[in-house]
Amino acid sequence: MNKNVNEIPYKIYLSEDELPKQWYNVRADMKVKPAPLLNPGTGQPMTAAELEGVFCKELVKQELDDDTAYIDIPQEIQDFYKMYRPSPLVRAYCLEEKLGTPAKIYYKFEGNNTSGSHKLNSAIAQAYYAKKQGLKGITTETGAGQWGTALSMASAYLDLDCKVYMVKVSYEQKPFRREVMRTYGASVTSSPSNTTKVGREILEKFPGTGGSLGCAISEAVEDAVTHEGYRYVLGSVLNQVLLHQSVIGLEAKTALDKYGIKPDVIIGCAGGGSNLGGLISPFMGEKLRGEADYQFIAVEPASCPSFTRGTYAYDFCDTGHVCPLAKMYTLGSEFIPSPNHAGGLRFHGMSSTLSELYHQGLMEARAVEQTSVFEAAQEFARIEGILPAPESGHAIKVAIDEAKKCTETGEEKTILFGLTGTGYFDMYAYAAYNDGTMTDYIPTDADLAASISKLPKIK
Ligand SMILES: *Cc1c(COP(=O)(O)O)cnc(C)c1O
Repeated sequence: MNKNVNEIPYKIYLSEDELPKQWYNVRADMKVKPAPLLNPGTGQPMTAAELEGVFCKELVKQELDDDTAYIDIPQEIQDFYKMYRPSPLVRAYCLEEKLGTPAKIYYKFEGNNTSGSHKLNSAIAQAYYAKKQGLKGITTETGAGQWGTALSMASAYLDLDCKVYMVKVSYEQKPFRREVMRTYGASVTSSPSNTTKVGREILEKFPGTGGSLGCAISEAVEDAVTHEGYRYVLGSVLNQVLLHQSVIGLEAKTALDKYGIKPDVIIGCAGGGSNLGGLISPFMGEKLRGEADYQFIAVEPASCPSFTRGTYAYDFCDTGHVCPLAKMYTLGSEFIPSPNHAGGLRFHGMSSTLSELYHQGLMEARAVEQTSVFEAAQEFARIEGILPAPESGHAIKVAIDEAKKCTETGEEKTILFGLTGTGYFDMYAYAAYNDGTMTDYIPTDADLAASISKLPKIK
């Protein structure tokens, strides 16, 4: 029998009263703030007025707010959250026993809604502010499809038009993802497409390309700015998205505090940084205020290693260079991960907030190879039952590594990791792993130098 079984339940529940009523903005507690978005034309910080041409007004306010620590969650959004939140905080007793580790492992499971990931937490917020502004609709990009699905759900609920540009390889590999979005009423276009100017340019420059998030972002932005009553929304990277995702960390902290549990290590996968930023925010706040200390680990794919091998610099967020410049750890906006990379997390850059925290040494990062990620995901599925999204598998891999270290050293560390979603639409990737045909790809220094050499020159 496992230790402590009777002390701490497998799942720590929260009542509706205990759900967060405010989001937490970690920027308020950062001494050095994340660098501002710059206008690529002038090199000057983007003003609210400039941003409001592309983004919803209230979201621009949140994007630029580096000072307000707590921001009220509108009642309508709280009510929507209640349909699928709190998300479970699970003590992985079964995994601990299988690993024979003295470590205590907890995971916060965000895959418990139909869209299958944490993305719904920000989708509903962004759709809500668009609706409140009286807009007709919103445009966006989606890579693996979770963000597009989440936004389709939120838009359907609020009766907003939703146009999704879906990276071509996913559009073709994940037809059912596409149909889920269409069922929720979204229109889905394979990207790059010939319906936008930037899409046609990209097709001309890279004929036959399978597309990338960077291309799809450019198309979605162009669509928004050329159609009256539309704005563009983004599912990760931006400060506002990390803010909305803070519900993950706030719930986790409330649940852990109930039992006096203090995590030693907090681990999350990092694509654009939103789930990780959301999970760690309240804990990072304590660290920044000097109230507590934690080890934070961002986990990224070795095939798209923004933190561990990227450059901290201003870069474009998109391939067509229509978006503001963001200062972040980046591989260069023309970097496209190898097509055999199946595990998601393929954005070339990273949240500016997390980039600054990482730059200050407040957070660590690790890059892991995809076969080891699927091995960990499969081990987890077989013991804890949940079929993880490949993205989530990155966090599982490092959580298991850390737990195994404790087996060797005898340390009883408490590990918390983010299990961001489920992998039902990733079965081609699982099939490749099960068939033994999955390979690892690590870009060479020359590959990275080529895309880094194209960073914009900022004085
Ligand atoms: C989008 C996604 C991620 C990565 O995005 P972040 O913004 O880095 O959180 C991770 N896991 C799942 C399941 C996702 O859908």
